[in-house]
Amino acid sequence: VASLAALLDEICAMTAAETDRGQVSHAIAALAEQSDRRFAIAVATLDGETLSAGDAGMPFSIQSVSKILTLAMALGRIGDQLWSRVGREPSGSPFNSIVQLEHERGIPRNPFINAGALVTTDVVLAGGEPREAIGALLRFARMLAASDDIFIDANVARSEAQSSDRNRALAHYLKAFGNLDNEVERVLGVYHHQCALAMNCRQLARAGLFLCLGGRIPGSAAPIISPSRVRRINALMMTCGLYDGSGDFAFRVGLPAKSGIGGAIVAIVPGRAAIAVWSPGLNPHGNSVLGIRALEHLAQRMNWNVFATDTLDRT
Ligand code: GLU
Repeated sequence: VASLAALLDEICAMTAAETDRGQVSHAIAALAEQSDRRFAIAVATLDGETLSAGDAGMPFSIQSVSKILTLAMALGRIGDQLWSRVGREPSGSPFNSIVQLEHERGIPRNPFINAGALVTTDVVLAGGEPREAIGALLRFARMLAASDDIFIDANVARSEAQSSDRNRALAHYLKAFGNLDNEVERVLGVYHHQCALAMNCRQLARAGLFLCLGGRIPGSAAPIISPSRVRRINALMMTCGLYDGSGDFAFRVGLPAKSGIGGAIVAIVPGRAAIAVWSPGLNPHGNSVLGIRALEHLAQRMNWNVFATDTLDRT
């Protein structure tokens, strides 16, 4: 563990010196204000310890990382019936593509593109009040991370609502195909708030632990979601978690992960640890430039890779 702490410091120093830091997202006004100098990394281990370096206590907008939470909740609500409404294939298109949705007659490719996430949010809303669904999401995030500090950033939620034409179009399109049960504006209301969930890197790493532990959270006896469901969520993260950069990420890092346009990435080392990184500068696919570089370095040095076939264990 001492060497892991030193490695995180080393990664932090390495990223501080990087000049190619990507572009901060201008998709919504609140994200455009972020500084590309920010960098944080945290590793939560199975014994309940969390090691971190950089701006690891600073909250940021988790954006699309929240799509893991709504997927887990939607599966909890309707189980495998979800798969009649959303697919499980990488999209090969931008995360907010409308063309693909028309082509596939209202069944989004996977739950991590925006159209697919609108479907999982619709399932979570389930005819209830948006406020209740948002509250349930927040409670779920707090439980997973074992932290009451997690909040919804009202400024980001407002900003989402002001720039939601494309998501609104996707939602109406889903509705036209009969793949949205609730009213478009109510689904969007929940979606904007889930994107605005604010967490720091330490909390996000901890929140990922249930995906390393067969659905259990440290200290709990019974899984909160079943081990087979965890395997499937991890598989979807591996194939679809980094938008149209998922193949390259699997090649370079080899871990299931999910990114968001706020610059966060959470990565899972099954049976070992959960990692969160945050740096707002993005590559053209919408993934954090320094986040990927940091994960690549960490995974290589720790020999953390689900495709590793040697028995070398450096932890
Ligand atoms: N709020 C963003 C949107 O809905 C989330 C995108 C993302 O992080 O991928 O477009």
